[in-house]
Amino acid sequence: MTSPVWHPFTQHGLGEPIPQIVSASGAWLTCDDGHRLLDGISSWWVITHGHCEPRIAAAITAQASTLDQMIFAGYTHPQAEALARSLVALTPPGLDHVFFSDSGSTAVEVALKMALGHWHNRGEARHRLLVIEHSYHGDTIGTMSVGERGVFNRAYAPLLFDVETVPFPAQGQVQASLDALERLCRTGEKPAAFIVEPLVLGAGGMLFYPPETLRAFAEICAQHDVLFIVDEVMTGWGRTGTLFACEQAGVAPDILCLAKGLTGGAVPLAATLASAAIFESHRSMDRATMFFHSSSFTANPVCCAAANANLAIWRDEDVPGRIAALGLALDEGLATLAGLGRLHNPRRIGAIAAIDMVVPDGGYLSDVAPRLRAHALAQGLLLRPLGNTIYLMPPYCTTPAEIAQAFSVIADAVDTRPNWHTR
Ligand code: PLP
Repeated sequence: MTSPVWHPFTQHGLGEPIPQIVSASGAWLTCDDGHRLLDGISSWWVITHGHCEPRIAAAITAQASTLDQMIFAGYTHPQAEALARSLVALTPPGLDHVFFSDSGSTAVEVALKMALGHWHNRGEARHRLLVIEHSYHGDTIGTMSVGERGVFNRAYAPLLFDVETVPFPAQGQVQASLDALERLCRTGEKPAAFIVEPLVLGAGGMLFYPPETLRAFAEICAQHDVLFIVDEVMTGWGRTGTLFACEQAGVAPDILCLAKGLTGGAVPLAATLASAAIFESHRSMDRATMFFHSSSFTANPVCCAAANANLAIWRDEDVPGRIAALGLALDEGLATLAGLGRLHNPRRIGAIAAIDMVVPDGGYLSDVAPRLRAHALAQGLLLRPLGNTIYLMPPYCTTPAEIAQAFSVIADAVDTRPNWHTR
């Protein structure tokens, strides 16, 4: 019998097998036929410490039988209060208010609405949004609008609003990118906000840029009084080596988006942190200026309990040390690929390693990624290349031996398939 399930980012017409995963532990997933998969992408960049992390699992179990769900408009609960306080303490200075939602996309939607609401409530006509080329911020209408346009969102183009794009600050293009931002800030109606993925553009192809550029972006925004929104949905929770990527640039944004690893990746929760100025522009005696956003599961207590357990792990354990060790293993793995002529541009930041494959057509829809994925699956590795970009973003508990194993699967896949560009 065919399954009624409609999967995300899946072309069901191709009839590709969809393995059923029944359990997980640490860096491993187990399929219903007993086949084990090393989770090379942290289950879509969410799992940080490892699957079914015992402290997080225990917190979820305890909370689920104490307070499972409640309306968060006009009511609060201890897990959300504790979590909000901890997030304010952990994030860059000036982010004093925490708004909870459910996913990375909603964290960004909330950020965009906060920015627009801020200027609206202050009586300033500011609607322009600035973005970086190749960005990805989610798949809802607002987040698609501030992301790269292409095959992913072509069908929905009539629904998307216009934004203005700053070129990606690739090596040799940094000044052009900064100049473009400066120009956009200086001309026309003042922009409302500039939204960035800090240090790494994930879905855009694991494109890295240095902390100095992130700092320069922030400085230009500050000079022109343009709100600076940092989307740490992917980069947060240690992926780039520090708890948050913006720490490396010493940047304190006006709005910060968190999701994915906020709960260690076990359950869905997101948070959008905002400056006092943005909160204050929504606070008055007039109900018309309140922040008009909610969803049924805002600040779900079980998810908040998981996030508090995640924060306790960061407090009590040497997570940065674990990430540093993982980084060394990733460097060693990348070095083993050096002799393979089809690969170029090896790069690594924190717990993310990436390399590009030279193929005639490396676009997102090319055959390369699914064929690499299928090869890795057969060899016990969960991999999901982005077009011709192969990357690993494993959970922090992954051992050097497991990383070496992952790289040997990648090397085998790249080396033994003579004709990647033909069917
Ligand atoms: N922002 C960034 C930088 C992301 O990488 C993603 C997802 O990968 C999102 C937002 C959207 O997150 P979600 O898939 O949880 O909606």
